[in-house]
Amino acid sequence: MDCFRGRRLSAALIAGCLAAVVLGYVVLHLAPAAQAGDQGPVALFSFAGLIRRGEKGDRVRYLQEALRACGYEVSLDGVFGPMTEGAVKKFQRENGLYADGIVGPQTIRELSKLYYRANPPDKHTVRSGETLSTIAGRYGVSVETLAKINKLADPDMVYVGQVLMISTPQEPPAQEPPAPPTDLPPKPPPFPIPDRRVCLTFDDGPDLNTTRPILAILRQYGVKATFFLVGERVLRHPELAREIAQEGHVIGVHGFEHKSLSGLSAAEVRRDLKEARDAITQVTGVSPYLYRPPFGQLDQTQVAEASKLGMRVTMWTNIGGADLGAASAEDVTARTVSAATDGGILMLHEGLQYTVEALPSLIEALARLGYGFLNPSK
Ligand SMILES: [Zn+2]
Repeated sequence: MDCFRGRRLSAALIAGCLAAVVLGYVVLHLAPAAQAGDQGPVALFSFAGLIRRGEKGDRVRYLQEALRACGYEVSLDGVFGPMTEGAVKKFQRENGLYADGIVGPQTIRELSKLYYRANPPDKHTVRSGETLSTIAGRYGVSVETLAKINKLADPDMVYVGQVLMISTPQEPPAQEPPAPPTDLPPKPPPFPIPDRRVCLTFDDGPDLNTTRPILAILRQYGVKATFFLVGERVLRHPELAREIAQEGHVIGVHGFEHKSLSGLSAAEVRRDLKEARDAITQVTGVSPYLYRPPFGQLDQTQVAEASKLGMRVTMWTNIGGADLGAASAEDVTARTVSAATDGGILMLHEGLQYTVEALPSLIEALARLGYGFLNPSK
């Protein structure tokens, strides 16, 4: 709804610098987790975050390769469709996990164990932060077996760079105990099957700095959202508006110039809304059916004129928006999650770096609370 132009610029600059520092840290400190030469399923095992239905690309392909290597039937097309989801659920069911079809850290951990049991590597180079126990867990072998194969006197003493034998042709890895009895209590779900819904909405776009990063994150998590676009910005960045539509998100009208339409005559309101609607329709090929007033300033004239143009007014349920004036990405996540309710419409804004930074953790936090993501229907 709002755009504090001046403040926003400096906030964006600071946030951008912070993001660069954070990214630099991640690259320097986390990159070694993926060894040179890691590829296919092995690369998958160092991924964080969620992989679920709707995602496409390398992560999905690695997942499919891992599933197939473990005996699950799935095509290697890099598309997380119904078949891949079915294979993931089957894998989860057969490995004591909650069968929600969403690949999170627990599923990846179990998949890596099974994969390495079927495809035991010859050796492993110890990395920073690893212990014999984490290495044993990764490859699904026991600490005792690793200690024995490598003739380690003290299993607590491994050092970074040390090369450990994982299996030898003469001495296969110890067999894990057979499948657990069926009367074990069910494990708590990592991400429950959604039984509540929220709608994520992004106002004020399209924006050169944030639209594409937001789209990439939504794609990664298989989440569809609603974008309330400003008409003149759509004309300035038609390719961004088209990308939003092509990814299957809903586009609504947020005025043509992002000026308050409150108190204007019916003719003036109609002109602005029609111009914005026509810009969106012309650029994306999709006619918008939702309208959100700039600055949240709504009156009866706008309700009536929007309706005549086939649009209904859609406000939000997180009072004030979660990201305006937020102190950090963590703040955005905390505010948004605390405002979530079943059927809630959560307003976020383009042009704010914190919002982009917060989005992955925000989606995961909502998913953990049992929320799925749904857009207002026509
Ligand atoms: Zn706005």
